[in-house]
Amino acid sequence: MEQETFLGPKELGLYINGDWVKGSRDRYFDSINPATGESVGSCPSASPEEVDQAVESAKQAYKVWKHTPLPERAQYLWKAAALFEERKTEIAAMMTCEMGKVLAESLGEVGVVIETCKYMAGEGRRLFGETVASGAPDRQIMMIREPLGVVACITPWNFPVAMAGYKILAALVSGNTVVWKPASEVALSAQLFTDVFHEIGLPGGVLNLITGSGSAVGAHLARHKDVRVISFTGSTEVGIQLSETASRTLKRVSLELGGKNAAIVLKDADLDLAAEAIVKSAFTTTGQRCTAASRVIAEKDIHDELLQKVLGKTKKLKWGNGLEDGVDIGPLVNMQQLLTTEEYIKIAVSEGARIECGGKRASTDKGFYFEPAVLSNVKRDHRAAQEEIFGPVLAFIEADSFDDAIDINNSTEYGLSSSLFTGSLHYAHRGAREIESGLVYINNGTSNAEIGVAFGGTKQSGNGHREVSHHVFDIMTEWKSVYINY
Ligand code: NAP
Repeated sequence: MEQETFLGPKELGLYINGDWVKGSRDRYFDSINPATGESVGSCPSASPEEVDQAVESAKQAYKVWKHTPLPERAQYLWKAAALFEERKTEIAAMMTCEMGKVLAESLGEVGVVIETCKYMAGEGRRLFGETVASGAPDRQIMMIREPLGVVACITPWNFPVAMAGYKILAALVSGNTVVWKPASEVALSAQLFTDVFHEIGLPGGVLNLITGSGSAVGAHLARHKDVRVISFTGSTEVGIQLSETASRTLKRVSLELGGKNAAIVLKDADLDLAAEAIVKSAFTTTGQRCTAASRVIAEKDIHDELLQKVLGKTKKLKWGNGLEDGVDIGPLVNMQQLLTTEEYIKIAVSEGARIECGGKRASTDKGFYFEPAVLSNVKRDHRAAQEEIFGPVLAFIEADSFDDAIDINNSTEYGLSSSLFTGSLHYAHRGAREIESGLVYINNGTSNAEIGVAFGGTKQSGNGHREVSHHVFDIMTEWKSVYINY
């Protein structure tokens, strides 16, 4: 597939108050295609003044947007859904060019945005309030949900548009206005997402896009006095920094962070089903998913048989440029991610792990390719079993029993997603209760979230807020109690 065919408009710039602006500074950064190492296009680094302008335009737009009737706000999401459908291939191809996931995955991700538009347009209309029995005669009390104002959305590169959709669409339908800072790796995909809202005629200032580094542009945005909510998806490290910023300035903060997800496989499980799901969960998006399976916790009786089945499937995976047909795994997002993954392989081996397959740079002269690795003889306290690698590395850990497996699963500081494979109803229910994760799958991979279902993690994987379902409105609105004496 010819890459050029799919590139969207380049250098749209920053999006402030309904206009594309090139940025006042002569400072641009390049978006690099990880399959080729070549530039896809360039984006402006917003200055502090431009961040302030974006927040000011969102603040002014909020005055009108919050009073725009909810069905009218929802109407914009329906229109956006239709245009995302039309521009699906263009946006998907840009994502593949910027961060490397295979085109089929990118197309699926735009599909998630379309579904989220429709879901939020409908669910937003159910922002019901409550009436409360009053202790006084002739008094009516109601509790109503109100938007908060300017929401800062800060998003990662691994799901360039889906994570944005989770936040931005919920914020907009509930009456807030948005300033969005996407990850620099995928700034051009963010421009295309924003351009959809420009094209459908969303009023100026309701959605603003600023690009540039997280430590400068993102941090300035998060500190801004007129930002009421920080909605962040990314690493635990940055999430903690933003939590501190928010607590100093009394902002609401929603954090969706890293994971060290496990697939637990008991001796009574369907091993073919488990192997299929594990390989998919571990290596889709080249292991760069917050919900990617990076540990297999297998009961000792079936450990070796399961390992062989997983190896058989892993060795068949074809790596290459995600725009090409028949490719299962694209490159890692950048050189840093490649070096980090390599480093973890070295650490794992030094701790006693065995490399069963892959675990090295793929033989090619360009692109950040890494052969998917399966490690065995990993112990629960090894770094490869505790730390988020965010690459195609799957560690096998042996467990003595169901209780031991749950103990291993819960031994990390993370708690995003876990799977349990078993034929036993008893263990399925116990697992659902005893696993410390925001998402638990029984006889399913770790990466199968659906729209409409609360999404988020526990422990160091998040601060307890949930996205995608109606619970996202606990972040995007606050309660007002109204007493009416009549
Ligand atoms: P990251 O380094 O934390 O960056 C996330 C976003 O924060 C980027 O837009 C980044 O900008 C910005 N940023 C960085 N430092 C900042 C600061 N000091 N103040 C404000 N913003 C700042 O994460 P990533 O590498 O993009 O994404 C990978 C991580 O995201 C993994 O840990 C993964 O598990 C997690 N993730 C979690 C979920 C979930 O739902 N739980 C979903 C997807 C990903 P720049 O990159 O442009 O500097």
